[in-house]
Amino acid sequence: TAIKIDGRATAKKINAQSAEQTRKLTQKGVIPGLAVIMVGDDPASAIYVRNKERKAAKLQFNSVVKHLPADASQAEVIALVQRYNEDPQIHAILVQSPLPSHLDEEAVVMAIDPRKDVDGLHPENLGQLFAQVGEDFPVACTPKGIMTLLSQYQISLPGKRVVMVGRSRLVGKPLLALLNNANATVTLAHRHTTDLAELTRSADIVIVAVGQADLITREMIKPGAVVIDVGMNRDASGQLTGDVAKDVEDVAGYLTPVPGGVGPMTIATLMQQTIQLAAWQTGQVVD
Ligand code: NAD
Repeated sequence: TAIKIDGRATAKKINAQSAEQTRKLTQKGVIPGLAVIMVGDDPASAIYVRNKERKAAKLQFNSVVKHLPADASQAEVIALVQRYNEDPQIHAILVQSPLPSHLDEEAVVMAIDPRKDVDGLHPENLGQLFAQVGEDFPVACTPKGIMTLLSQYQISLPGKRVVMVGRSRLVGKPLLALLNNANATVTLAHRHTTDLAELTRSADIVIVAVGQADLITREMIKPGAVVIDVGMNRDASGQLTGDVAKDVEDVAGYLTPVPGGVGPMTIATLMQQTIQLAAWQTGQVVD
């Protein structure tokens, strides 16, 4: 059976590092500042926001959560983003997705100061990632956390065949760039892909970010392959499940569990990147 890639244990290590870095920065008068904006009452989003808030408080960040009502106007949301853009105590801004459908998510992302765009969604940051230009820019936290997991488990990437399933701006697209920059050979699969199983069967590494339980089954995985499950779905009894079927663990070489795999890494990486942005914006160095 597959070796479990333990996201909780790895996140714990990163959080310990983050606590130490925060302590050093705070001594120099810089308290990492994270602002999370949530609009409406999506229950899943409320849980994610609460988890982020807890972790930021635990690390003694300057943590602000602004919860706007579901009928907030586009102008209100943008005004709030602009307020945090100008606030020197805030170094990182995260707008929790999804936004209610009357809001223009693209315009909101464009309003975020790219230097404070902690989820790396702004085209300037995504563009730098694809162009491999510069180093001091934010990268989407879930993809960055997955790269950390792969490196922690010494899973090498050069020359490996990776199938990335899902091409969202938050997960699939940045991962495509990160994996390509790490010299893997990456195939990007999505809703219109035909014969997904044929692609995944030849992959050394399969990463799935779709949001469909049991999309990836054991017949689709090459024996010994690494399987990274980003999906978060609720089954009939309200249990959290990923996109990968249970029996994949019998054939994969490595597998991330859900919960306890990618999820905790996303939050740990968000904290790590908030610290990094605080340091960049104030001319400090974190090590
Ligand atoms: P999204 O809904 O924006 O995009 C889904 C992608 O899946 C699309 O690119 C689509 O083309 C593709 N897709 C849909 N059906 C497909 C199929 N049958 N075969 C192949 N591809 C298909 O998704 P997202 O925001 O990237 O999120 C994906 C999943 O990951 C969700 O379950 C979400 O909850 C989860 N997620 C988890 C974390 C975490 O920290 N663990 C972070 C972000 C997202």
